Amino acid sequence: MKSLLEVEALESGYGLTQVLWGSSLSVACNQSVVLLGVNGAGKTTLLKTISGLVAAWKGRIVFDGKDITRAKPNVRITGGIGYMSELGIFPNLTVEENLKLGGYFRPEKDNRKRAGEMFDYFPDLREFRKKMGGSLSGGQRKMLGVAKTLMSNPKLVIMDEPSSGLSPKFVKKVIEVLKALHEREKLSMLIAEQNVSFLDFAQKIYILDKGQVTFDGDVEELKGNDTIRQTYFGISH
Ligand code: ATP
Repeated sequence: MKSLLEVEALESGYGLTQVLWGSSLSVACNQSVVLLGVNGAGKTTLLKTISGLVAAWKGRIVFDGKDITRAKPNVRITGGIGYMSELGIFPNLTVEENLKLGGYFRPEKDNRKRAGEMFDYFPDLREFRKKMGGSLSGGQRKMLGVAKTLMSNPKLVIMDEPSSGLSPKFVKKVIEVLKALHEREKLSMLIAEQNVSFLDFAQKIYILDKGQVTFDGDVEELKGNDTIRQTYFGISH
């Protein structure tokens, strides 16, 4: 499989606090990758460093054949990286305004067409297009976050804990939507999660622990690892 994202020995952090200690991972074209890790492992920091919201200290990030280690966030967005934070949306803007912001770097004409496609994917959002993002239900907010991210027409979607704050029913719905989008839009995905329901969707899994990748493999390999099974699934055999 052709590689889309290569992260090599990445180091970064905040001020004097180092969080990533040489993390490496890769995402192939049209591959869905899940990044697992306990609270504070550095998942958000890794995703933000790939998206350019946190500066890389050392290491290299190559996207679509180009070295973007020092590129500004807008260059990464226009180059095809879409980032959805844990909150995902602007609660004080309407659904339409959120989508418009998602397509900020694209021509207005393309944005209107793309917003129409997003409303076809997510009919609830069409109905609520004049409503404030903050007035939507948790599940609808996540859908808006996904739609907002897709407005920039990314090749790679990076998501930080899309399941956070959702009931199991909505987690299932989000996974269904992501699966469908993965198929229809031929998207590559890198999703940081703690919710093991996402594992069935993952073609590859990485575990991040104290800023370092300690496992990579598929779901079968992961379930076959005793220590990991105990940490993430709470079962010892
Ligand atoms: P969580 O699931 O809780 O979000 P995480 O795996 O995403 O965890 P990070 O949010 O990347 O982990 O945090 C890694 C470490 O960096 C933590 O010790 C955290 O306290 C610290 N950290 C995060 N953001 C900042 C910041 N803006 N300034 C200083 N330290 C930070």
